[in-house]
Amino acid sequence: MAKYKVEVDVEQCTGCGACNASCPESFEMKDVDGMPKASVKTPDIDDMGCCMDAAQVCPVNCIHIIELESGKKLI
Ligand code: SF4
Repeated sequence: MAKYKVEVDVEQCTGCGACNASCPESFEMKDVDGMPKASVKTPDIDDMGCCMDAAQVCPVNCIHIIELESGKKLI
């Protein structure tokens, strides 16, 4: 079982691209109904890598990281 789950609240995402710029190995931009939206390449991960950095630069705080074992939302 992976240690963390990374999620983007697509409804809140403004498509600014900051997460992709900060952490391109984990975040990509996709076209959703004509709007750019962030997408997590691999949601279930063992190594946080730069995902926390990306979550912290998101201007609308719509990237969430959950510790799976405890269910705790880290951000
Ligand atoms: S930084 Fe936040 S608002 Fe900007 S594209 Fe990424 S998830 Fe969306």
